[in-house]
Amino acid sequence: METSGFTPEQLDVREAISKICSKYPDEYWAEHDESGEYPHELHTDLAKDGWIGIALPEDLGGAGLGISEATMMLHTIAESGAGIAGAQSIHANVYATQPVAKFATPEQRQRMLPDLIAGKSRTCFGVTEPNTGLETLKLRTSAKKDGDQYLISGQKIWISSAQVATKMVLLARTTPLEEVGKPSEGLSLFFIDLDKSASGLELKRIKKMGGRAIDANEVFFDNYRIPADTLIGKEGEGFKIVLHGMNAERCLLAGEALGIGYVALKRAAEYAKDRVVFGRPIGMNQGIQHPLASAYMHLEAAKLATYHAARLYDNSSNDGSITQHAVGVACNSAKYLAAEAAFTACERAVLTHGGMGYAQEYHVERYLREVFVPRIAPVSREMIMNYIGEKALGLPRSY
Ligand SMILES: Cc1cc2nc3c(=O)[nH]c(=O)nc-3n(C[C@H](O)[C@H](O)[C@H](O)COP(=O)(O)OP(=O)(O)OC[C@H]3O[C@@H](n4cnc5c(N)ncnc54)[C@H](O)[C@@H]3O)c2cc1C
Repeated sequence: METSGFTPEQLDVREAISKICSKYPDEYWAEHDESGEYPHELHTDLAKDGWIGIALPEDLGGAGLGISEATMMLHTIAESGAGIAGAQSIHANVYATQPVAKFATPEQRQRMLPDLIAGKSRTCFGVTEPNTGLETLKLRTSAKKDGDQYLISGQKIWISSAQVATKMVLLARTTPLEEVGKPSEGLSLFFIDLDKSASGLELKRIKKMGGRAIDANEVFFDNYRIPADTLIGKEGEGFKIVLHGMNAERCLLAGEALGIGYVALKRAAEYAKDRVVFGRPIGMNQGIQHPLASAYMHLEAAKLATYHAARLYDNSSNDGSITQHAVGVACNSAKYLAAEAAFTACERAVLTHGGMGYAQEYHVERYLREVFVPRIAPVSREMIMNYIGEKALGLPRSY
C-alpha cells in the first residue's frame, strides 16, 4: 500500500501494530481458522500496549486518538495476514465503546471503560435480531423496568465474540413498537454484564464460512436481569446514541476490508512473479497483471474514501460545518467502496494462484471467505445503496 499522505500518528500506529502482528504468522491464523480457537494472545498483546483504548479518552486510560487512527489499526491488523478474523477479535471493543464514552455519565464511564481498555474485560455488540434483520428500528428484544433493574427478553443473532466477552453493548426496546410515535423512538442502549452463569441467558454458536476463530452466536434472553444503571443516556434515545458507534464501525470495517484486500494483492503479486508457466512468470501476462493493477487502483481509491470518512467523523465533534449527514454519507460510501474493492482483490488473488488459490497453504482462499463479511455486515451493500439513493441523491425512500 502507498503510505504517503498519512499523518505521523497514523504511521506510528501502523508501525507499532505491524510489529505486534508480526508475531502472528499466516500459519497461526490458518490453524485458528481450522480449530475455531479464539486468538486470545493478540487481544492480550494489544491490550498490554494500550491499543484497545486507542480511540477512548485519556482520563479513562485510553490513548485519546480518533477513528482515523483506529481505522489504521484495524487495517494494519487485517493486512498482516490476520484478516477480518484478527481485526474482529478487538473490533467491537473499539467502536461499540464510542457511544458509551460519549453518552455515559462520568461515574458510568469510570466504572465501565478502564477495565475494558486494560484488557480485563471484553465487550460484544448486540443489535441484530433474527426476525428483523436490517430493519433495526423494528427490533423487539425488550427491556422492562422492574425497580432498580431491567428484565431483558428476546433474541439476538450473529453476535461476534459473545463466547469470550463479559460485557455487551445492547440495543433493546423499552417502549413497545406499537406505542411509539416514530419507530426510532423507544429503543435504549445498555452496557451490560454478559454473565453466562446467570439465569435467563443462553448462547448458541453459529457454524460459519470464514473467520472461524471468532465465534458468532445466537443469544437468547429470558427475563435476564440487569441493573438499571447500565442504561446509557436517556431511555428511548438509544437509536440516536448507537448511531454514533455505527458510523465509527463503518470506518473500521472499511479499514479491515482494505487490509485484507492489500494483503491478498501482495500474495498474488509474489506468486505471479515466481510461478513460471509457458516459459515465463505468469505475471508477465497482461491477463494476470492488468486485473491486479486494476484491483490495486480500486483499493487506493477506496483508501482515500475511507480515511476521508474517518477524518470527517473525528472532526465533526469540533467543526460545526461537518454535518452528521455528511459523516453518514461518507462512512457508508467508504464501507461500500472498500468492501467491493477488497472482494475484487481477494477474488483476483485466488484466480492468480490457479489451483493453488484453492489450497489452504496459500491463504488466499481464507481471505476470500472472510472478505464476504464487509459486504454483508454491519450493513449490506443494498442497504447502503438505498441510503445513498435517498440521502445523497434525494430519491424517494425505497425501503
Ligand atoms: C460474520 C458476521 C458477524 C456479525 N457480527 C455481528 C455483531 O457482532 N453484532 C450484531 O449485532 N450483528 C452482527 N452481524 C449481523 C450483521 O450486521 C447482519 O447480518 C447484517 O446487518 C445483515 O442483516 P441480516 O443478516 O438480517 O439480513 P437481512 O435483513 O435478512 O437481508 C437479507 C438480504 O436482503 C437484502 N435486503 C433486505 N431488505 C432490502 C431492501 N429494502 N432493499 C434491498 N435489499 C434488501 C439485504 O441487503 C441482504 O442482502 C454479523 C454478521 C456476520 C455475517
